[in-house]
Amino acid sequence: MTSDDFKKSTLNLKKAVPLMMKNHVAATPANYALWYTYVDNAIPQLNQEMDMVLENFGLCPPASAEQLYNSYVASKAETNVNELRTSMEVLVTEVASSMTDTLSDTSDFSKLIDKSFSDLARVEDEGLSIEEVMGVIRQLVTESREIRHSTQFLNSQLSTASEEISRLKSQLAEVQQDALFDSLSSLYNRKSFDRDLQALCAASQPMSLILLDIDHFKSFNDNYGHLFGDTVIRGLAKRLQTSCREGITAYRFGGEEFALIVPNKQLRIARQFAETVRRAIEKLSIKDRRSGKQVGNITASFGVAEFIEGDTPEALIEKADKLLYEAKQLGRNRVMPI
Ligand code: GH3
Ligand code: MG
Ligand code: MG
Repeated sequence: MTSDDFKKSTLNLKKAVPLMMKNHVAATPANYALWYTYVDNAIPQLNQEMDMVLENFGLCPPASAEQLYNSYVASKAETNVNELRTSMEVLVTEVASSMTDTLSDTSDFSKLIDKSFSDLARVEDEGLSIEEVMGVIRQLVTESREIRHSTQFLNSQLSTASEEISRLKSQLAEVQQDALFDSLSSLYNRKSFDRDLQALCAASQPMSLILLDIDHFKSFNDNYGHLFGDTVIRGLAKRLQTSCREGITAYRFGGEEFALIVPNKQLRIARQFAETVRRAIEKLSIKDRRSGKQVGNITASFGVAEFIEGDTPEALIEKADKLLYEAKQLGRNRVMPI
């Protein structure tokens, strides 16, 4: 590192730390890396996305931070999962050492060829016997067989290693995906929801929470099978995702229940948004593969609550859940409060 580099990184760190404090960011290595990269301005797209998140939420929720870190900062070779990292290192070392073996074989071999040529030259110059000539040739054949074997060995090792590396890479991507997202719906998972809501409540950010639950979902499972039920969840999640705008984030809360965090919006606006989503879900129609029939009549009930200073995540969830229960009681397919 040159002294200029050092100056620059100190300067960046000096800028990053206060920003992290201002935005209630936990002091983890990944967050340092993320915010360092942000103030370094080296990846404009990261800055654009981060600015958008900050504008919407007033801070960077943990799930967004981790997602940004994974997309922009973590290098492809880097892994959160030390086990995977170690396996990769072991593999690379193995390949490198067998490569060195073969290379030294190769140079031994080329020395041998040189010697064989000069031996052969001696055949003419000194009139070696046919046995001596055969001896030179036999040695050449043996050595070339050995080198062929070790090259084959290296090749097979290399291809096993590269297969293994790509397997580990996709495993790693899966692990990172699993940590943040729900595998069935591809929405952020419950863990992401809990962390984000905790961070937003702790920072007293203005927001509203929408909880929604699919109506009579059990009957889809009973009438068309569990796999069809899964398809309904996937279809509805997709609809939620496409409805989200202005920083609104969708999470799978559990089973057939979903949560939407609406940053910076009062109850009235969040309620309107829930109403739009309710109507979008009503229009859903999903094909049952077994019968080939389109299944409609998919509806959901909604409870919407606004964060009030001092609300814990549990209190806010409780408020929304109570209203969701009321929506069910009143006949489903509606948003509460009215
Ligand atoms: P309500 O209108 O009162 O919400 O009725 P409901 O049938 O939707 O509610 P209930 O709680 O009785 O049933 C929810 C069902 O959702 C029960 C459970 O088996 C099913 N379920 C939960 N998670 C999944 C899933 O991932 N896939 C499928 N196919 N079914 C699920
Ligand atoms: Mg339910
Ligand atoms: Mg339900």
